[in-house]
Amino acid sequence: MKFGGTSVADPDAINRLIGIVRQQQAKTKSAPLVVVSALSGVTDKLVAIAQFAEDGATGKAAAEVAALVERHVAVAAAVTSKSRTTVLADVRRELEELNGLVHALAVLREVSPRSRDAVHAVGELVSSRIVAAAFADHGIPSSWVDARTVLVTDTEHNAAIPDMMETGDRVRDRIAPLLAEGKVVVLGGFIGATANGVTSTLGRGGSDYSAAIFGACLGVDEIQIWTDVDGMLTADPRIVPQPRLVPQLSFAEASELAYFGAKVLHPSTILPAVAKNIPVRIVNSRRPENTGTLITADGRPAEGQLTALACKRDVTVVDITSTRMLMAHGFLRRLFEVFERFKTAVDVVTTSEVSVSVTIDDTRRLEAILDNLHNFAEASCEREMAIICAVGENLRADPTLFGRAVTSLDRIPLRLVSQAASRRNITFVLRDADVPHAMMRLHETFF
Ligand code: ADP
Ligand code: ASP
Ligand code: MG
Repeated sequence: MKFGGTSVADPDAINRLIGIVRQQQAKTKSAPLVVVSALSGVTDKLVAIAQFAEDGATGKAAAEVAALVERHVAVAAAVTSKSRTTVLADVRRELEELNGLVHALAVLREVSPRSRDAVHAVGELVSSRIVAAAFADHGIPSSWVDARTVLVTDTEHNAAIPDMMETGDRVRDRIAPLLAEGKVVVLGGFIGATANGVTSTLGRGGSDYSAAIFGACLGVDEIQIWTDVDGMLTADPRIVPQPRLVPQLSFAEASELAYFGAKVLHPSTILPAVAKNIPVRIVNSRRPENTGTLITADGRPAEGQLTALACKRDVTVVDITSTRMLMAHGFLRRLFEVFERFKTAVDVVTTSEVSVSVTIDDTRRLEAILDNLHNFAEASCEREMAIICAVGENLRADPTLFGRAVTSLDRIPLRLVSQAASRRNITFVLRDADVPHAMMRLHETFF
């Protein structure tokens, strides 16, 4: 059971969480593993603190850390009684260490990806301690486990990849026995450590991924993502007012939606679930009586419509035109090698006789990429673009859906259009400014 930032935001949220876990325990007659995010907004603050340190803004960094101490102490005190003294000491110590670390970084004015992870990880370390203490105080047998002693990752800091073999061994050794004793095990999501024990993180929104990793290692019956919306919705509610709930969808659909911007699920979450064929359920912690969205291998019964829309804002289109060879063989290899060399993922690709267009969202190495492309091609880029992705298993069966989607975007300039062999999605690349309008039109047409 994974609880996101808003589901642990304040004492009321944590008390709701305890009620939800208690009910689950009564229903299944077994103890669940609970993964929690940082209290809502805390990771953003930690990101800002690391930035202040890099800028040498010692005072600002210290003030933000002090605000974090105040907030966590207040929440911890409100949800505990017997274990209050211990948890307050734990929280204070953890944030005191953060203070020392940030001070050192600010003096050096140098924050490496590795130090950044050490700063970002603190939110989950303290939130998980608070929730574990609250369980104990409510008479629920529980155990806090430092996720960094279990989730082993590579050294790609800020977006680390789990070592599933090693993590699996540790989960079976250290977590399974506690659960077998009937203890609710509480861990922070998002964080892990390298084989050498250096703190790492899985990338923003990574607590969902942690939950799926632990769930897969334990071979659980269901991975539950408790959040602040009723489930996967037909569109991002921040863009389309009143989208509908998608009661059921397939792993493949969920993975496309997550990848193309449905923030409710971290894009890597589905992978461990698919590997073990474990259903994932997205549920609202404010309305636990609802069934939410169930994601399974088969998805939902076909109804002849799309499943949902997603969009990824602020992407960059790179256009590459072959100068000498026109599409000679080897051209595509050389082109993609450039993106590989600079570790930049390409999202959408379209090709014509002499040119290839791709989209990227990580532009940190864009200059170097363009320089390298210029060795054998003309290359230019266009920023402030966006991707809209319409997803549905039914796209394969119903050839009219594609036409209806395009027609609904009448007069909105489409920069690229693509439909891959899986025919599970249609992807449009357009100006970022056109996104709200385009999403509304598609949503009106299909939902
Ligand atoms: P948590 O802190 O629980 O992980 P997130 O903020 O990461 O929550 O994800 C939930 C949010 O995702 C929702 O509040 C909603 O604004 C956003 N969201 C974007 N697209 C979708 C979608 N298709 N369905 C549901 N929520 C979405
Ligand atoms: N707290 C982390 C973040 O805000 C991880 C998560 O919430 O999933 O990105
Ligand atoms: Mg999230």
